[in-house]
Amino acid sequence: MKHGQLWHTQSWEEVLTTLEASNDGLVDATVEQRRLVYGDNQLQERTRVSLVSTFFDQFRDFMVIVLLIATLISGLLGEFTDAITIIVIIVANAVLGFIQQVRAERSLASLKELTAPTARVLRSGEWREILARELVPGDVIGIEAGDRIPADARILHSEELETVESSLTGESLPVSKHVALVHDPDAPLGDRTNMLYMGTVATRGVAQAVIVATGMATEMGKIADLIQSSEDAMTPLENRLNQLGHVLVYVSVVITIIVVIAGLFHGHEMYEMFLAGVSLAVAAIPEGLPAIVTIALALGVQRMIKRNAIVRKLPAVETLGCATVICSDKTGTLTQNQMTVKEVFIEGRAILVEGDGYDPIGQLVDRGKPLQSFPPSLQRLIDIGITCNNAHLVVENDKQVALGDPTEAALLVLAQKVGRTDAFARVKEFPFDSTRKRMTVVVRHENGMTAFVKGAPDLLLGQCAFVQLGTEVVRLTEQKRQEIVHGLANMAGRAMRTLGFAYRDVKTMPASVEAAERDLVFVGFVGMIDPPRQSVRESIQTCKQAGIRTVMVTGDHQLTAEAIARDLGILPRHGVVMTGVELDRLTDRMLEDQVDDVYVFARVSPLHKLRIVKALQNNGHVVAMTGDGVNDAPAIKASDIGIAMGKSGTDVAKDASALILADDHFATIVAAIEEGRAIYDNIRKFIRYLLSSNVGEIITMFIAMIAGLPLPLLPIQILWVNLVTDGLPAIALGLDAPEEGSMNRPPRSVREGIFARGLGRKIITRGFLIGIMTLLVFYGALSVYHTGLQTAQTMAFATLVIAQLIHVFACHSGDDSRFILHMFENLWLVGAVASSLVMLLIVIYIPSLQVIFHTSRLPLLSWLAIVLAALIPSLALSLRRRSRSIRTVSVRTR
Ligand code: ADP
Ligand code: MG
Repeated sequence: MKHGQLWHTQSWEEVLTTLEASNDGLVDATVEQRRLVYGDNQLQERTRVSLVSTFFDQFRDFMVIVLLIATLISGLLGEFTDAITIIVIIVANAVLGFIQQVRAERSLASLKELTAPTARVLRSGEWREILARELVPGDVIGIEAGDRIPADARILHSEELETVESSLTGESLPVSKHVALVHDPDAPLGDRTNMLYMGTVATRGVAQAVIVATGMATEMGKIADLIQSSEDAMTPLENRLNQLGHVLVYVSVVITIIVVIAGLFHGHEMYEMFLAGVSLAVAAIPEGLPAIVTIALALGVQRMIKRNAIVRKLPAVETLGCATVICSDKTGTLTQNQMTVKEVFIEGRAILVEGDGYDPIGQLVDRGKPLQSFPPSLQRLIDIGITCNNAHLVVENDKQVALGDPTEAALLVLAQKVGRTDAFARVKEFPFDSTRKRMTVVVRHENGMTAFVKGAPDLLLGQCAFVQLGTEVVRLTEQKRQEIVHGLANMAGRAMRTLGFAYRDVKTMPASVEAAERDLVFVGFVGMIDPPRQSVRESIQTCKQAGIRTVMVTGDHQLTAEAIARDLGILPRHGVVMTGVELDRLTDRMLEDQVDDVYVFARVSPLHKLRIVKALQNNGHVVAMTGDGVNDAPAIKASDIGIAMGKSGTDVAKDASALILADDHFATIVAAIEEGRAIYDNIRKFIRYLLSSNVGEIITMFIAMIAGLPLPLLPIQILWVNLVTDGLPAIALGLDAPEEGSMNRPPRSVREGIFARGLGRKIITRGFLIGIMTLLVFYGALSVYHTGLQTAQTMAFATLVIAQLIHVFACHSGDDSRFILHMFENLWLVGAVASSLVMLLIVIYIPSLQVIFHTSRLPLLSWLAIVLAALIPSLALSLRRRSRSIRTVSVRTR
């Protein structure tokens, strides 16, 4: 069965025989054997970048190369200790960068793993959900609208199946697929209508198919090399920071040149100034920035996974923090999707159903009395309910649970309560879709055929011409219609999800859905409850405080949606509820005018979702939109943050999304937004820290050289600061947890630059103060206390380091006046600072290192001066802040 088979010209029975497969699926032993033969059902990835080349990439940086050359020169000039130490530091820097990059890549790879596609497969006669990669030829799979086809397969049986094969054939229109033979052996792929191809998607219908080829043997595998596009994982922020990095390179180079020239002018040695200049440039350029940003993103993404939010597209992490509107599904996201039929409406009155959940226990109560015998219309309603149904009930741990659509499972439970469980034999299914909002099956019986229809009752009523009363079928008069509409409004107004039932006897198989679903006999409808999910109310409240509006977008009845929205706190007193029909009457402009007041969109179809997203975006909103079905994909894609449901979502919706909710829960969206804000905050924090450190170093050197002082910091010391003081604490800042108040402020504007809200000013002032204090200490030691050059340099070095380590806490807490209060919140940070301090003491006090770093031991009194000087920037800034806030207070009281 290996040679190239013409599967499409064989009957499905022949195909099964050739593949040594059966209608019941393969048995596990066969699967194991075949996995050994055929391997994973996966397209081979292009060779990945090796670890070695990642490591050597770290040295490719322009400034590092210059530094290496400089080191070489100093080595040639006989400064061996200097040369060796600098090389050790460069290597250490490279190792750090390497670890950072590998870590970031690993976590991105594990992310891919999480979103790995799955498939429904029939093995040993039972349906299972497995990873698509574990499929083998001969496996029988189930396909449903919205599924991505996991391998090449021959259809065994299908209903209304359509697939889009644009990824393979370029044809963007859906192709309808069925089991029938294709006789032309040379038919192009697009015409092999009984075959399904890996990577294409089912957009309608259902099917069973047997796999004929997996992995690289599939049609997709044959062209895999052509289609493998490496998605650019850079986020807008990373891009902007890269650009910033380039600017900073130029600025530092210019400053360095000035410093070098000034130094030479004041009589410093050429070689010394060259090395100092290069070291300064290396220190000043935040080459670690992109890597740390990637790490912060990766770490944040990991935290999101812990909270059930799986990020598929990294840029979404940034956009999350800007979200101003969340458009959320109702069923399953805001509610539990645990349906229980509570009332049945037949013949003009409601019958109550007792019991909860999927337990088949409970009586039916009519006008206060338990029903003993069941009227024919009720029996008919239940027949339709269980026949027009694809759900199953299974017992797990002594409890009945639903497999499939909970709305349908609830009908099975209702049938159990009535003791009626035999469904009719179906000959045809017109599947449910969220535009028609109904589903129809055709059944055969001794007197001919009947179409059973169930769906949204208000819409279904429009397709009905008759109504069932007892055993009789009478014309649906306006009065009868009103009676039903009234009953519907009553149930929907009590937050119940309603579902109507109708049928029509037909002589022959209806040619189309439209033909099957007209002139129907209305039987009745049911009302089911679906309780809100836990903590949704709190999450919506949190969103409000965070300046994010929640909008419910649902296919459900207007009144049901309205009642639930009010209950959950989504719908304010004067909020508007708009239906799909009303929306259709509006032009895009009119919709834009009104959309800001609408809190609930009811009875909408997926196409409406797209219009809603567009209208909100045109009003300047950053929109998060959820969805699960095939037709939701355009809206998900168009939104700023497309969100797909992990459990109930289709592959197509997931492919279009930027974020997947593993638990389908609304609260998870809010958690993701909180993390998104935190990640951005953290990035700003370490940018603040890193850049002000760099400014500090530049200022120190710059002023000293202009003023004709000796070098305040030696090249090796600058490099040490760059590696130790700048590196570790910056990474630790990326680990900061979300701040307490992060969900109490409005969303950040998408247009806001990274230095907005005073960050640029803070960086410059702080850097300036740190530089000045370092210089003052240096100058004081040198010229006032005559400590000698080496001691003065050591003191400058220590002042710079300690001032920066104090600053890191201000970056963490956001503010100098409170940093002590928040000092121990991030233990990584405490650890990073402590280890930097210890390393500072080591290079100052260990004699062999003193030689290398040109340091000398300092007396206690010097330390007092150093710590005092290092504290001054913090004190100055917190005093200034305080006086400013006092001033604003006095202005306000006046
Ligand atoms: P939502 O997910 O927003 O609640 P849906 O699009 O799933 O909305 O459902 C809209 C309406 O379609 C429901 O109110 C119900 O009346 C009807 N409906 C839902 N599921 C089914 C189904 N499986 N078969 C027939 N009708 C259904
Ligand atoms: Mg739904």
